[in-house]
Amino acid sequence: MLGALALVLGIGLWLAGRLLRPIAAITATAQQISDRNDLSRRIGITSTPSDEVGRLAETFNGMLARLEAVFATQRQFVADASHELKTPLTAILGHANLVRRHGAADPYVVGEATTAILEEGERMRRLVQSLLHLAQTDSAPVRRSECVNVSLIAREVVREMMPLAQERGLHLQLHEANEREPLIYGSSDELRQVVLNLVDNAFNATATGGSVRLAVTTLIVDGQECIALEVADTGDGIAPDDLVRIFERFYRVDAARARGAGGSGLGLAIGRALVHQHGGSLSAESQLGVGSTFRVLLPRCIGYLDC
Ligand code: ADP
Repeated sequence: MLGALALVLGIGLWLAGRLLRPIAAITATAQQISDRNDLSRRIGITSTPSDEVGRLAETFNGMLARLEAVFATQRQFVADASHELKTPLTAILGHANLVRRHGAADPYVVGEATTAILEEGERMRRLVQSLLHLAQTDSAPVRRSECVNVSLIAREVVREMMPLAQERGLHLQLHEANEREPLIYGSSDELRQVVLNLVDNAFNATATGGSVRLAVTTLIVDGQECIALEVADTGDGIAPDDLVRIFERFYRVDAARARGAGGSGLGLAIGRALVHQHGGSLSAESQLGVGSTFRVLLPRCIGYLDC
């Protein structure tokens, strides 16, 4: 009798040990990650993924992979932001040193250095503003507080950008085709900023004599009524390899030229994040030498409860 009990107890302990071994492995891996800040570690899955412990290990590994990817993106973002800030900072220090060493008494040198320092300072201010905006976009939900008429936004942007279009010899037009008011629910300030950036980019890409056309239309997408706002230009166009990357943070098609024009490569990333927050999408089509079309697609307000 006692022998049988001991046997049952022995088998029970052996089984419990076998079952708990993978849990111990998960605990050990979690401990190693916490001790060494090493998110590249994974749990070796020995049991079949169909049992509970195997599934737990798989879920744990999946979570680690996602965390590792998020941290890598954050690290890259901090490195890129530092690099972007380093360039104007180096220029400011260089000009200030130049004046101190050679030119304090020379009005020409002082004038040139002051202009350069102001330009670089302004570039840094814009970049910091964009970084702050991006941080807000990442952390806060959109202030969906108002009913927005997309046509009014497009008209405002056209009015605001017309003097610059005339100065650059560009044809700026607005086309509207909507049976009902093109209403969406969201933040008019944020959408205006997205559209302004798209038009600004279109201006930068289009030579004198070219045209930039805004269009506000109503479409049915996957059975849902949507408002489309397009900004189409007859500019340089974007090569396919660049087109797939232009919405990435800090990506510039022609980095040297774009930096010269004051761009940091954040405008489209911020724009896409803002449009996503509104439940919409921002996409682009382009052909080198022919032009580009950027399209903001937003769900239309349905019924008076929405707006
Ligand atoms: P930036 O602030 O530098 O303009 P964006 O994120 O707004 O950054 O744009 C990223 C890059 O995409 C720009 O450097 C520009 O070269 C390219 N781009 C954006 N819009 C257009 C356009 N309409 N035509 C050609 N290139 C464009």
